[in-house]
Amino acid sequence: MRLVREECQNGFFGDFGGCFVPEQLQPALKEIEKAFLAYKDDPDFLEELNYYLLEYVGRPNPLYFAKRLTEHLNGAKIYLKREDLNHTGAHKINNVLGQVLLAKKMGLKRVIAETGAGQHGVATATACALFGLDCTIYMGEEDTKRQALNVFRMELLGAKVVPVTRGLRTLKDAVDVALEDLIANYKNTYYLLGSAVGPHPYPLIVKHFQSIIGQEARKQILEKEGRLPDLITACVGGGSNAIGLFAPFLDDKDVKIVGVEPGGDGLETGRHAAPLTAGVPGIIHGFKCYVVADSEGNPLPTHSIAAGLDYPGVGPEHSYLKAIGRADYVAVTDNEALEAFKLLSKIEGIIPALESSHAVAYAIKAAPKMRKDQIIIVNLSGRGDKDVQQVFELFNK
Ligand SMILES: *Cc1c(COP(=O)(O)O)cnc(C)c1O
Repeated sequence: MRLVREECQNGFFGDFGGCFVPEQLQPALKEIEKAFLAYKDDPDFLEELNYYLLEYVGRPNPLYFAKRLTEHLNGAKIYLKREDLNHTGAHKINNVLGQVLLAKKMGLKRVIAETGAGQHGVATATACALFGLDCTIYMGEEDTKRQALNVFRMELLGAKVVPVTRGLRTLKDAVDVALEDLIANYKNTYYLLGSAVGPHPYPLIVKHFQSIIGQEARKQILEKEGRLPDLITACVGGGSNAIGLFAPFLDDKDVKIVGVEPGGDGLETGRHAAPLTAGVPGIIHGFKCYVVADSEGNPLPTHSIAAGLDYPGVGPEHSYLKAIGRADYVAVTDNEALEAFKLLSKIEGIIPALESSHAVAYAIKAAPKMRKDQIIIVNLSGRGDKDVQQVFELFNK
């Protein structure tokens, strides 16, 4: 299949991103780009989006001063951006709601998505239920077994979950099938991507709808502290919650930006999912980014305690921010994330998602090295209710 690069020059972040997809997919992506550019600043569209963010998601969520955690660490002040308090328990709903409204504006009545751990599938099924759209979720058959409860959630929400039985029967195979569906049906179907990854225009669209996180946090910290933070940090899977927090701070040169990748059992073991800290540039799922890959550039199996971070690629804009040195990326191990999960639960009464625990773990390391008048904002991307069973089993094995 011929890869068309010249079609989407503006989908590049430096050398990263782009649109390395089969030619048959180009018309569908063009339609989506056209609609996004037409509606993203349209007053009616914004009014409807803002209505549902307020009344359904529960935004704005608080920027909470974690006083006991701060005192415990005896360093910089730590604020938590409470995405965990959103309806459905994480930041994913921000993006899903925006894209479902876009599909509605495009006159499309059918939405498809792929999901690995099931979180994005549940968020998509939720937004489709809210607007009465036909919803099909592709999921590797292996993943449907591992995540049976999420399959049931999606079905409760009215979605059709299709187990994909080709290849390794996991996320990559589900992506392939979803893309084939889009090629065949784009006249009536919207493909809803769940992170700031994939071919242009998805990284732009997802950043746009997740930037509400950083916009609120920026306003809230100025109200509370009268100045910008010294450090902002978030976990990075595909990179959507991170780019959402980072985007409104990119021009604030004095704000240090750190993305936290899943170091799994440790980078040296090879059992991790940390493309920015331990990968190489390559092409995956239609775009160029850092990839966890072998010397030939083939993606390698990845591992993280947090299913939502377990992906061999990463958003093109993060790849670019690393290349130009605007953001730093570090890795935190499974064990460090677990310790953070326990500490935040015990000391603040907030059980964080295992994904978010990676960002908390980094803040726990960074805060004691900073002055007490300095400020850290940690994006608490989701709540840990979904992870309690998994952690219970880990502690009792
Ligand atoms: C899916 C998920 C992530 C990872 O996705 P990003 O696109 O990197 O934000 C992080 N935290 C939670 C709670 C998630 O559900």
